[in-house]
Amino acid sequence: MKEPIIQPGTVWLIGAGPGDPDLLTRKAEKLIRAATVIFYDALVGKGVLKLAPRSARLVPVGKRSGSHSRDQCSINDMLAGAARAGERVVRLKGGDVGIFGRAAEEMDALATHGIACHVCPGITAASAAAASAGISLTLRGLARKLVFVTAHAKAGEELDLDWQALADPKTTLAIYMGKAAAPVISRELLKAGLAADTPVLQTENASLPEERQFSTRLDLLALSAKSVLGDGPALILIGEAVRQRRAVSDLSFSSTVPKPKQTLFN
Ligand code: SAH
Repeated sequence: MKEPIIQPGTVWLIGAGPGDPDLLTRKAEKLIRAATVIFYDALVGKGVLKLAPRSARLVPVGKRSGSHSRDQCSINDMLAGAARAGERVVRLKGGDVGIFGRAAEEMDALATHGIACHVCPGITAASAAAASAGISLTLRGLARKLVFVTAHAKAGEELDLDWQALADPKTTLAIYMGKAAAPVISRELLKAGLAADTPVLQTENASLPEERQFSTRLDLLALSAKSVLGDGPALILIGEAVRQRRAVSDLSFSSTVPKPKQTLFN
């Protein structure tokens, strides 16, 4: 019999990528196939979950803003409990585990319980969005810096970001969880000196059959986000690097569903 690559009683935190199962690493796929229990976030693609063995228990522990969420402590306890019971535990997170994934909290909690934990990286949403649009997140001479930033504010709190530092015309901003804050992002970056016509690319459901991309400019971002974005996860890219989109091959070339790609400029 093939040797399982997850030792019983250990946990693997795995980046499940942006949704398309073809964007999983080979290692992630092998680990998923070896799991006895899989705890997964809301943004983990359905196609990824289909790779789980039929005998594995699939446990949703998703947190999407506005909907029911399990608190982080109870997720940590579930992971530790399953590992202690001798299971081969996989914890699947959308994108890369180390980018706005609260991986550190889970790793620390498992260490406190004396449970071995390993990490398998994944493709982050910004990489998938850029690939779909045929842009490079960095651009020689024009975009020398790439900043991953979350625009998620705690309920009832103002978004607390260093807008002056972010408003650098030679930087590409990859803004996660920025849909609700789009008006603030636009207003504050303009106030901090970014040009009104700075190009913006919004990508919803990157890498999935429902993917949609919308180009706009910084001063129109609030209006654009409100009118075009739906319920799916959305990533906002801002900066000169996103000005020139190119026709590129379809990311989901081997998926069974043909992708009705929508590309709108507004
Ligand atoms: N660890 C993830 C990010 C988790 S934060 C990663 O590396 O991608 C959740 C945010 O990521 C969403 O609100 C959205 O801004 C972005 N996101 C995740 N998957 C996405 C997708 N398929 N398309 C667009 N944005 C996505």
